[in-house]
Amino acid sequence: MLPVDPSRPHRTRILLLCAAVILLFTFADVAAIGHFSWAAFSARVVWAALTAGAALYLPRAKPASQQLILYALGIWTSAFFALLTFLTGGSSSPLFHWILAMPVLVAVVVQDAPGVTVAAGVTTIISGLLLLIQGKAPVDYAVPWVVQAAAMSALAWYASSTYEQLRARELEALKKANAFDSEAARRKKAEEEVRSRDDFLAVASHELKTPLTSLNLQIQSLRASQSTSDETTKQKLEIIERQVRRLSGLLGELFDLSRLRQRQLDLNFSSVDVCEVSREVVGRMQPVAAQFDSQIHVELCGSLVGWWDRTRLEQVLTNLLSNAIKYGAGKPIYLHVSHDNGTAVIAVRDEGIGIAKEDQARIFQRFERAVSANNYGGLGLGLWISKEIVEGFGGSIFVESSPGKGATFIVRLPVTQPPKELAH
Ligand code: ADP
Repeated sequence: MLPVDPSRPHRTRILLLCAAVILLFTFADVAAIGHFSWAAFSARVVWAALTAGAALYLPRAKPASQQLILYALGIWTSAFFALLTFLTGGSSSPLFHWILAMPVLVAVVVQDAPGVTVAAGVTTIISGLLLLIQGKAPVDYAVPWVVQAAAMSALAWYASSTYEQLRARELEALKKANAFDSEAARRKKAEEEVRSRDDFLAVASHELKTPLTSLNLQIQSLRASQSTSDETTKQKLEIIERQVRRLSGLLGELFDLSRLRQRQLDLNFSSVDVCEVSREVVGRMQPVAAQFDSQIHVELCGSLVGWWDRTRLEQVLTNLLSNAIKYGAGKPIYLHVSHDNGTAVIAVRDEGIGIAKEDQARIFQRFERAVSANNYGGLGLGLWISKEIVEGFGGSIFVESSPGKGATFIVRLPVTQPPKELAH
């Protein structure tokens, strides 16, 4: 039997109405015996009070007690009616013919409880038989009566169990719909949280960059001033400068992370010479390489102009060269730019720690690293950002490497020209 749903106030309403009808039908007893009977009236009052009590208590009762109350309700409904029949003349009372209706009535009021209907049916048959025996009814009258009572009970049980199945299906569908709704709400909330985290990252990293730039300028002017001619101060300033550069690199990665997650990596395309950009970036990175006892060797074509975003192209080159310096074990680094059939090929090679085969694909994903954080600092974002930029240019990036033998990162960019409307 399905649990009674306390949110169904109609059951309480119907049962209260039943209690009222039970009292209202006092006139049927009077009509049956020709005068008012206190015994019959008392039976009706007790029956109505029990039914009203059940109506009011059911919504508050625990599920197990609810089942018990419903069974009791089914049984006492049939039993009290049989008692009234007995008090108004037994099997010869006009009420006797109505006794067959009791299981149906129970099935109508407690629709989704076939067990309760069966209990009412059994009580009806037993008490009806007792009345027939008490009235000394002949067997050929009693047998068809029992058959009728059983048929009515079976019909009531069938209707009730069909209703129970329908309600079970309805509850299942409702549960699924609720689960779907709460899953959708959970997903929406998670998306909102991620979005606000990304927004925070974007704003915070952007805001932090401003004081960092001004700090950098102060360091530059200190380095240039007379007061820093002494060697120790110079060295300390160099360390500060390096850390500031590192910090602004990390902030830049965080900023790009938030932008890329929101698919907002704006690319400002213009005609860019990749060889010129490479020269410029190498010029900036050479002192950094020197700090790691390394040197960048360059082999460039004279000029190779394509339709790219200059700042982002610089970013890719800086990322690859920084990694070559970081993981290059102080050995030489080679930057090679060439033109291959409408494609610019940029290769950054080092002779450092190298990358195992199984790590070579995943290092291009967000936060993926192939080294221990204790040995090498970093967020695992540089290659992912570079890949996103290169793919934004319609190109590709991959690595060739074996552990201990260094790594070569190869970027292939289609050398497209400005769209026609911008060409003039
Ligand atoms: P990060 O350097 O901050 O960890 P990257 O996305 O730039 O993040 O690199 C991801 C990982 O790829 C690194 O942690 C490192 O394991 C590996 N890697 C990148 N470049 C090299 C390289 N030149 N040599 C060896 N390993 C590298």
